Amino acid sequence: MKPTIAIDLGGTNIKAGIVAGTEVLAAESIPANSREGLAPQLPRIAELIERLCARRQLKSTNCRGIGMAVPFLVDPIRQRIRSVPREKYGDACDIDLPAWARQRLGIDIKIENDAHAALLGEWRHGAGQGSDDFVMLTLGTGIGCSVLIRGRPLRGKHFQAGVLGGHLIANPEDGPACAACPASGCYEAESAAQSLAREAQAHPQFAKSALAGEKVIDFAAVFGHAARSDEVAVAVRDRCLRYWTALIISLVHAFDPDRIVIGGGVSEGAAARAMFPAMQDCVNKHAWIVEPIEIRAAALGNQAGVIGVTTLFTHKPQCI
Ligand SMILES: [Zn+2]
Repeated sequence: MKPTIAIDLGGTNIKAGIVAGTEVLAAESIPANSREGLAPQLPRIAELIERLCARRQLKSTNCRGIGMAVPFLVDPIRQRIRSVPREKYGDACDIDLPAWARQRLGIDIKIENDAHAALLGEWRHGAGQGSDDFVMLTLGTGIGCSVLIRGRPLRGKHFQAGVLGGHLIANPEDGPACAACPASGCYEAESAAQSLAREAQAHPQFAKSALAGEKVIDFAAVFGHAARSDEVAVAVRDRCLRYWTALIISLVHAFDPDRIVIGGGVSEGAAARAMFPAMQDCVNKHAWIVEPIEIRAAALGNQAGVIGVTTLFTHKPQCI
């Protein structure tokens, strides 16, 4: 079978790979420069694809096509971008990516929302196998969410159902403004990477914490210092854990899955995985459920999107 060119268009990096089945034959990442817009990145993406193909002695036309995971609301039937987050790729709704791919590289492109792409990857090849009703949460820089119901990704009238799960409101009283959505106090603003420095610095013991010596307060720093019992790191980590568990319970109540698959940077590493039993215990106690809900770590790591977009060439887009 011909390989697929897979692109994961992130807000910080653009990852590209040549993928056959679940094997990534060649891969490279470039800075996204997402604030400049998408149009200035297209020549760089084309060059990246040509570079990867050359490394495998392929032409782009030897591949099945380009599967691209994007951080946008996407109409998968018409292959159009419908809406973009704040301050990232602001011009993307005006760009006809299928026309670009055909003209510049002579091949088809299929685009999919990145959370749906990760869900499709885990469903076909990872921790979602055996379930047709699960929720995929990606916890890290942001909070990605995608919902599979009876074997179909939930999309809704405007293609935003499920994928805005991270932007459900957790704190309507005095929550911080979100970097991605128009709301304040959503789960992403409260408990994704953007919350860490704010919450650490607001802690009365911050000056004595090892986090005060970190250049960047990210999840690696918080989980690392929390594992060494740093008081502030433990407080920030446990606060995130409470929000994530509350979000999982809300998603269980809304979408009635039989499994929650958790991926993203925070699901990797022993210190991060140690939080899973606590989350499972809390969901068992506080969710209104008929049968047990299983919380599982994602199996494909940060390759879920890249592997997920290869399924766009083997399965027709479905909606519910
Ligand atoms: Zn938000």
